Amino acid sequence: MQYVDCIVMGGGAAGLMCAASAAKRGKSVWILDHANKVGKKILMSGGGRCNFTNYFIEPENFLSTNPHFCISALSRYTQYDFLELVGKYDLAYHEKTLGQLFCDNKAKDILHILLSECDTSGVVIHTQCHIETLDSCGSQEKNSENVPDDVKPRFILQTSLGEVACHSVVVATGGLSIPTMGATGLGYDVAKQFGLRVKPRYASLVPFTFKDHQHMPLLSMMQSLAGVALPVSVSCQNQSFSEALLFTHKGLSGPAILQISNYWNTGDTVTIDFLPHESLELILQKCQQENDRSELKNILSRYMPKRFVNVWLESHPSLQALTEKSVAQYSKADIQQLVVLFHAWECVPAGTEGYKTAEVTKGGVDTDDVSSKTFEAKKTPGLFFVGEVLDVTGWLGGYNFQWAWASGYCAAQYV
Ligand SMILES: Cc1cc2nc3c(=O)[nH]c(=O)nc-3n(C[C@H](O)[C@H](O)[C@H](O)COP(=O)(O)OP(=O)(O)OC[C@H]3O[C@@H](n4cnc5c(N)ncnc54)[C@H](O)[C@@H]3O)c2cc1C
Repeated sequence: MQYVDCIVMGGGAAGLMCAASAAKRGKSVWILDHANKVGKKILMSGGGRCNFTNYFIEPENFLSTNPHFCISALSRYTQYDFLELVGKYDLAYHEKTLGQLFCDNKAKDILHILLSECDTSGVVIHTQCHIETLDSCGSQEKNSENVPDDVKPRFILQTSLGEVACHSVVVATGGLSIPTMGATGLGYDVAKQFGLRVKPRYASLVPFTFKDHQHMPLLSMMQSLAGVALPVSVSCQNQSFSEALLFTHKGLSGPAILQISNYWNTGDTVTIDFLPHESLELILQKCQQENDRSELKNILSRYMPKRFVNVWLESHPSLQALTEKSVAQYSKADIQQLVVLFHAWECVPAGTEGYKTAEVTKGGVDTDDVSSKTFEAKKTPGLFFVGEVLDVTGWLGGYNFQWAWASGYCAAQYV
């Protein structure tokens, strides 16, 4: 039977970082991945340019049932530690917006860095490897004489490569999003097998879908705006994000919507300010003072895309009367009606596009059952969980990769 110090299940962002860091400590490390190549999500991330971290990483940018869990790892392996690594490879990168750091060239440059780190430290990567079972070793193997404690096998895996024994197992199998890229629930199954709890999981950082209702043909309205993008401020569950919104054939997308989807639960109302940097009340009052005779839609089109304004006014029958009057004739109540419609428009999404398009899985292995220092299961020495498989979900903007790097690096110090 083969023996390695550490088996890393899953060669994504967290698994590659963990494997390279553990091997640098002198451990023999294998990565087992069932896909035909490792790091597929890195390659498809950030529109092919990988938003690999963010200048402004704070624990508040992460959601978890235990919001304190991420604090320690994020402070022990920071965005600047990752920048030091990319600096070693002279990676050209740029800040796009809100501290988000992207490769100048291609996401494959980040994968190249991780693979080089694995290669130089001696990590062995097995792709297309199927993990059939993972079990604790029997006492006979554990007590094998003349074997130092830190290399005594604690687990045996049955795989398509045969049987492998190891001292530590790192579960880095990620979440459920994009099944076509190799996502599976293996990490959750392993957690349950060893008695760890798993929090409910949801597709997150994901577009919203809508349905038509008799009183409000919401979906039809969004379909006629498909492709229109505008800056908004969107709120739900006391959280707000000011970024771009994109109308789609299924409903709403764009960074603002993906961000708020992290906080959205089925049935929640989402409030959208389509004019976050202006006051419509002041704009209209000014028009009245200046006796501006322009039509409402022309005034609004100075601040928002014309197609949006036209469809929005046509789709809200309550506004019909207003569009027939001149702005000079508007009462306070008329203005208030418009203010609500453009600054505080409310909708209840029917659902999300699901794991097919979600960037992450919210929820996962219960952090109460894992050490925030070592990432080891509290009740199973030698079994570690890192990355997205844990109940830690970052905002859009490089936060999820930083979590993968930080958790992978920290676990590697203890395997
Ligand atoms: C389209 C898209 C774009 C994204 N863009 C960004 C971005 O720009 N910035 C950012 O911070 N985050 C981004 N993310 C999120 C980010 O990719 C993930 O949070 C991150 O990859 C999680 O790392 P991980 O190592 O935990 O899991 P993953 O990277 O998903 O890796 C898991 C690995 O485990 C393997 N695996 C799964 N099941 C098994 C099994 N049964 N047996 C063996 N191996 C298995 C998989 O093949 C995979 O290689 C994006 C996600 C998507 C889907």
